[in-house]
Amino acid sequence: MSEVITIANQKGGVGKTTTAVNLAAALAQSGKKVLLIDADPQTNATTSLGFNRNDYEYNIYHVLIGIKKMSDVILPSKFKNLDMVPANIGLVGVEKEFYDPNKKNRELLLKKAIKPIKENYHYIIVDSPPALGPITINSLGAADSVIIPIQCEFFALEGLAQLLNTINLLKKSINPKLAIKGFLPTMYSSQNNLSKQVLEDLSHHFEDKLFLTKKKEVLIVPRNIKIAESPSYGKPVTEYAKKSKGAAAYVDLAKSIVKITNDDKKLAKERAR
Ligand code: ATP
Ligand code: MG
Repeated sequence: MSEVITIANQKGGVGKTTTAVNLAAALAQSGKKVLLIDADPQTNATTSLGFNRNDYEYNIYHVLIGIKKMSDVILPSKFKNLDMVPANIGLVGVEKEFYDPNKKNRELLLKKAIKPIKENYHYIIVDSPPALGPITINSLGAADSVIIPIQCEFFALEGLAQLLNTINLLKKSINPKLAIKGFLPTMYSSQNNLSKQVLEDLSHHFEDKLFLTKKKEVLIVPRNIKIAESPSYGKPVTEYAKKSKGAAAYVDLAKSIVKITNDDKKLAKERAR
């Protein structure tokens, strides 16, 4: 069983890439086979794992325009159990190709490309760009579920209704099974009243869609300098600063995700009986 989880929020700088990279790394560290797909022309996820432009010739762009297969562009990372599909700034150009009215099923190009390799991984994590354009639609079209990082700052919930609306439309059309895995409060600072307010608002509106720790507390990602530093070392925080609070949060998130997967499997089995 394999699961595609897309990290999405059209708001910029909320912790999507940070979550994609560190969740992928934490799942891989726990022994799961993981593929991280960078579907953002900014290529931040690619750089965060220490890849630079000279390390690869082809990338997700070539897959989406149909000249390469997904298996052609997968790179093994320096980290155990973790592979990567890199992006490139050229991905910006793909938006034009998507708008080609003669192309059929252009919202499902990523899903189709993933299909042949999907079962090679326990989890495939997709990092998406800060827009609700064709790349994000493809990233959501390919997903079994979506994680929505919410930055614990002013305007945190701004634009959320539009994102939820888009997800609902996709459920009604190209991806009926798309589930919201959860909302993830990011960059939380306990000294900041605004952070507390955002968390209260989230708990009020989406209580059953927040991740929980083992102690049944709401899982938040704290504002943590090690998280911000780690990409410049080409490492996830779980490798760069294993004992940091930032690393602990992403390890907890990975555990929570694995638990949800296992609970879902159990439920499906019971239902089948
Ligand atoms: P974009 O919309 O541009 O793709 P994003 O949603 O992917 O942005 P990130 O790049 O993950 O957001 O994070 C934005 C910035 O905040 C980065 O500099 C990142 O290092 C920093 N950051 C993210 N999470 C944390 C955290 N928990 N603590 C401290 N800094 C963080
Ligand atoms: Mg990003």
